[in-house]
Amino acid sequence: MDSQKTNELYERFSHLYRERLAPLESSKMAWGFQCGDGWYNLIHKMSKRITNLLNDDESAPAIAEVSRNNDGTLYITVRNPTLAIADIVETAKEQSRIICETCGYSPAFLRHQDGPQKGHVACGRCARHNAGRPNNKAPKRKSQRRRASDIEVIKR
Ligand SMILES: [Zn+2]
Repeated sequence: MDSQKTNELYERFSHLYRERLAPLESSKMAWGFQCGDGWYNLIHKMSKRITNLLNDDESAPAIAEVSRNNDGTLYITVRNPTLAIADIVETAKEQSRIICETCGYSPAFLRHQDGPQKGHVACGRCARHNAGRPNNKAPKRKSQRRRASDIEVIKR
């Protein structure tokens, strides 16, 4: 996720993401949000719902990692989650199945074909936009013809 969006989430939900300042050995939150910008709104909503349930102390639940599962969905680790918070996180994970990780459009789904979107949840537009098209405009070989005309010159 880009740094501006990352900072917005950190500033707005400073307490929930307090492990962003922790050393990497103790929390992966120091890596930031390891996913695309398209999930910004999803993460924002989830963070807001969790923050409403948090108290101020240092033992309150904190998010320790935000990244992506092998199946392309949102991955989140929460330190000391309550049942209500675990439920909110599960809901966000479920929603990520159909929200484009790149642009936030829904419906989207996990892409399997080779290309930059492989293994990512992507909408049709992003999948098409980023799919490498076969190069049909490869320059045609003209060397044969050139060689032929060289031969003609030599013949004269
Ligand atoms: Zn998209």
